[in-house]
Amino acid sequence: MITRPPFEFGGTSVAAGTRAVVELALPRLNSQALMSMSVHVLHGRKDGPVMFISAAIHGDELNGVEIVRRILATKLLGRLGGTLIAIPVVNGYGLSQHSRYLPDRRDLNRSFPGSESGSLASRLAHLFMSRIVSRSSVGIDFHTGSGHRTNLPQIRADLDDPQTEALARSFGVPVMLNAPLRAGSMRGSAGELGTRILLYEAGEALRFDELAIRAGVAGVFGVLRSLDMLPPSTRKSTSYREPYVARSSRWERAPQSGILRARVVPGARVERGEVLGHVHDPAVSEHAPILARSAGLVIGRLELPVVHEGDAVFHIARFNDDMADVEENVDSFHLDHGDLLLLD
Ligand SMILES: [Zn+2]
Repeated sequence: MITRPPFEFGGTSVAAGTRAVVELALPRLNSQALMSMSVHVLHGRKDGPVMFISAAIHGDELNGVEIVRRILATKLLGRLGGTLIAIPVVNGYGLSQHSRYLPDRRDLNRSFPGSESGSLASRLAHLFMSRIVSRSSVGIDFHTGSGHRTNLPQIRADLDDPQTEALARSFGVPVMLNAPLRAGSMRGSAGELGTRILLYEAGEALRFDELAIRAGVAGVFGVLRSLDMLPPSTRKSTSYREPYVARSSRWERAPQSGILRARVVPGARVERGEVLGHVHDPAVSEHAPILARSAGLVIGRLELPVVHEGDAVFHIARFNDDMADVEENVDSFHLDHGDLLLLD
């Protein structure tokens, strides 16, 4: 039997059927402390695609960090075919400061493809592109809502590409959004190299969300199976349903400044004209309703109860499908991942 050649990465040779942690050197902290990006390389015994999973490109978005940790701890990866590159923390500078940004206040996910001689963000983006994205045919990047907003677990991807769409479906969350490639984002730059990217958006920054984490772990295994990097599941899934693709989405905004009282949760189905919440003047009892301009599903919500007029509060996705089917799909998703809070 011919052994599969090793995977050469960052000066380390990873033999087939083994794994290694490679530290990619990053610019030092200004204190001179060394910085690196820890990259876990799992090189399967059998041939197959190279896929990466990455978290905390935005340093305060933590659900993905836990998703990667749980995936790396599973025994199932002993049966891996192909090569999995896992980066639990891309932006360690931001993580240590509880910040979305880099110390230069730039957004890493607006700094791709980056350059060797650019800003700190640009250099980090360049390293990530040249070492990881360029080696991979598929990548899954983990994000959460920003600015005190939480997201219902959802996949954002270029769904006009049939292969990306098939990967997105295999992730198995109830809602998918066809997201155009954004200039400066990792997803946009990866597309130019031919690397297909799924963006998993779930939960809130600086918090763990158990449903979002469990669904993320299951989603990665779904994608690995669809790529034949793992054998098919032996567990019978009884409630799996096809995800629904949102036709469009928009934010309903605060009509005045004040204190927010929300009436609907992420995952709720809403009717056109429904009251989603109220904004109160803190001193008097006057309040203004926030109304849904269309029927749809709440896929994101502001969790901070103080708002200025115009703040984005409820993210509503619209579908061409029957909303009762979409709602049922979300309910069974919650049950699948053991979210007992929604059982009552
Ligand atoms: Zn993000």
